[in-house]
Amino acid sequence: MDLGTLRREIRESSHIVCLLGLSVASDCGCFNYRDSDNAYAVETKYGYSPEEIFSAQFFNTRPKMFFDYYHEDILGKLGTPGPALETLRRLEDERRVQSVITRSIYGLPGRAGIRRYIEMHGSVYQNHCPHCGAKFPIEFMMQAEGIPLCPHCGSVVRPDIVLDGEMIPNSLVTASASEVERADTLLILGCSMKATLVRNAISYFDGKRIILINEEENSSDRAADLVFHGKPRDILPGIYT
Ligand SMILES: [Zn+2]
Repeated sequence: MDLGTLRREIRESSHIVCLLGLSVASDCGCFNYRDSDNAYAVETKYGYSPEEIFSAQFFNTRPKMFFDYYHEDILGKLGTPGPALETLRRLEDERRVQSVITRSIYGLPGRAGIRRYIEMHGSVYQNHCPHCGAKFPIEFMMQAEGIPLCPHCGSVVRPDIVLDGEMIPNSLVTASASEVERADTLLILGCSMKATLVRNAISYFDGKRIILINEEENSSDRAADLVFHGKPRDILPGIYT
């Protein structure tokens, strides 16, 4: 597909909903546990896989190791919103992109200045005490040594993110479905059509076109109307050139 086609299709859209995949976050410098080098490094260091550590069970039974990992690997690699996010913000300013939906937990849409987004798995920028309900900014988690404890009641403060073994809040599932239902264009960035984020959303889509920009080729690509193979950060900004 050529860039002219992408430009035209996006200009003809008035209600784009973007499904933002994890590889966009990884391209922004955020920690990606799916990267095999990262996964290997974590296993070597802790003796457990990133998925095992980032679970509700681990959080409850081995909080010290959970927060060692959380501190160093997650909060240590927050990344910076890159060109794909900047282009989405511009498209939102032009009222073409109406919503960004992601499972990434690094607060990228908000940090890029995007106003309407849904973080299905929550964000490391929001934290709370499950006991007394006090809320804490990311700085509190960054400054805490070892296990972060609530200064009001002494309970373990946790990030507002969905850990493995936990359910995505129903309100977010409903909100994302209703966004997708209203879209005329689904813009899928940095994940395949088989990604959980896409599979969960696609059944609600009744619009005109599905645009996929993803580096890896996949047999499921044919379910999209327009397919571009490459990194979203390299391709998407091209609509403004
Ligand atoms: Zn508390």
